[in-house]
Amino acid sequence: MKVIKIDKSQWSQTLEKIRGAYRLFGPVKEKTFHNFTELSDGQSPDLAFQNTRLSPKSLVFPQSEVMLNYSLDEADADHHVPKEAPKDYSPRAVIGIRPCDAKALALVKMNFDTDQYKDPYWLNLYNATTFVGLACDAPCGTCFCTTAGCGPFSEEGLDVLLVDQNDHYVAKALTDKGTQLLQKTGSKETTAAAIETAKIAAEAKITAKIETDNLRGADMMALYKAGLWEDISFACLNCGTCTFSCPTCWCFDIQDEVYRKKGVRMRNWDSCMFPIFSVHTTGHNPRDSKLSRVRQRFMHKLKYFVDKYDKGIMCVGCGRCVRQCPVNIDIRKVSALMNQLGSEARCAVKGS
Ligand code: SF4
Ligand code: SF4
Repeated sequence: MKVIKIDKSQWSQTLEKIRGAYRLFGPVKEKTFHNFTELSDGQSPDLAFQNTRLSPKSLVFPQSEVMLNYSLDEADADHHVPKEAPKDYSPRAVIGIRPCDAKALALVKMNFDTDQYKDPYWLNLYNATTFVGLACDAPCGTCFCTTAGCGPFSEEGLDVLLVDQNDHYVAKALTDKGTQLLQKTGSKETTAAAIETAKIAAEAKITAKIETDNLRGADMMALYKAGLWEDISFACLNCGTCTFSCPTCWCFDIQDEVYRKKGVRMRNWDSCMFPIFSVHTTGHNPRDSKLSRVRQRFMHKLKYFVDKYDKGIMCVGCGRCVRQCPVNIDIRKVSALMNQLGSEARCAVKGS
């Protein structure tokens, strides 16, 4: 696969060459935080960031998205007939997505692209996008990607890996989409030798960990009924910050909104931490307590997903929920408790 060198003095010009074929998106500083947004003509992504406050999942899964439009006006010939909302699925390139967030999209794809069901909205945006990842060389203290099946130079879900080498970038194509994008730059080819050295140095900086080795073998009902959920959920505010900031949370709700005689059907992010998330049309709520909602979030990420897919945990170790939970509920501590319980359950089975 193609590897090129881009001098930083040529960075703006290189982006303009790419812009000729793609809509560009990248991190931009908003007050004190960076977030991903579409870059206007001549605007460069601000790559001097550790990670964005919100994950870039909204690039393929907008927080609110119109699916269908319809008219309730009987004077309109096609009243009450829902029509696809217009969408722009032209080629896009996301410059500077972190490897953990790209891996998260690859995990989420398992939900939106199955043999039985394909989500056209998510997939059309995902397939239209070329992901240019920026390897991490200064991870946050709360990052634990290396024990979450990922890493600061992880390539899963990326089309290109970009590595900062002080006065230049090394860009390595990982897919055919990535090769096509790099061909637009006209930059000189180089070798990938520097990437391995930088990768080893970056991985050594990540000291935070998550313990997961006993989760797959653990007895599900023993974990579900464990007393630990009382303590873990006690302080939770059910604010949903953890789920909205998480790159691997994918839940949404579909609603119709009508103003006068025009209607839209739209989907909006939802959160298992919200009290009405699971309410049935009968009014029954199977998760009517804070404990049951907190348990659902962690059991889904650390047990149900693990057992269903055998692809590790539904978490890439970005640390956003750890940093942003207002009451300091920490998935690493929850996983350690679950993992310990899993270990004890195994010992009990072996000893019986
Ligand atoms: S961010 Fe913290 S307080 Fe808010 S719902 Fe998540 S675990 Fe609960
Ligand atoms: S669970 Fe927390 S640490 Fe894991 S991917 Fe989601 S926000 Fe990041």
